[in-house]
Amino acid sequence: MAEQAQTGTDGGPRPIVAYFKLDPKPHLVGSRCACGAVYLDPNRVACSKCGASGPLPQIDISTKGKVYVFSVIHQSFPGIKTPYVSAIVDLPEGVSVRTSLFDVDPEQAQKEPQKIFDLPVELTTYVAAKDREGHDVVAFAFKPAQN
Ligand SMILES: [Zn+2]
Repeated sequence: MAEQAQTGTDGGPRPIVAYFKLDPKPHLVGSRCACGAVYLDPNRVACSKCGASGPLPQIDISTKGKVYVFSVIHQSFPGIKTPYVSAIVDLPEGVSVRTSLFDVDPEQAQKEPQKIFDLPVELTTYVAAKDREGHDVVAFAFKPAQN
């Protein structure tokens, strides 16, 4: 089962973007240059900070981070329920990711934004769609971290 999800060649679920992996546990992947620059892209071929080229080594990105900034979205594409909270989450490796914030009440977030900035959050997953072959397409979001 775990290997099926990784390869995506059979009935297993599939991650929605290349920098999101489902196995062994859902997490983001990136690449890190020798100069220290980290990119949220496991297939990065060059570093824009120091100019190094060649495939950069892949790294696993932490599943826990902190909200850097957020916005309450009131209008979106047809079929997307609003309002919801969109955020940029800073991750310990030095990258940030744009994501939906689950389990945060949009109205409450607007009333007391200071409670959301710097909020510790952790990665969570949901099934965003089914692909043409009927596999679950799994996406990620972040939610307040459980401690
Ligand atoms: Zn570099």
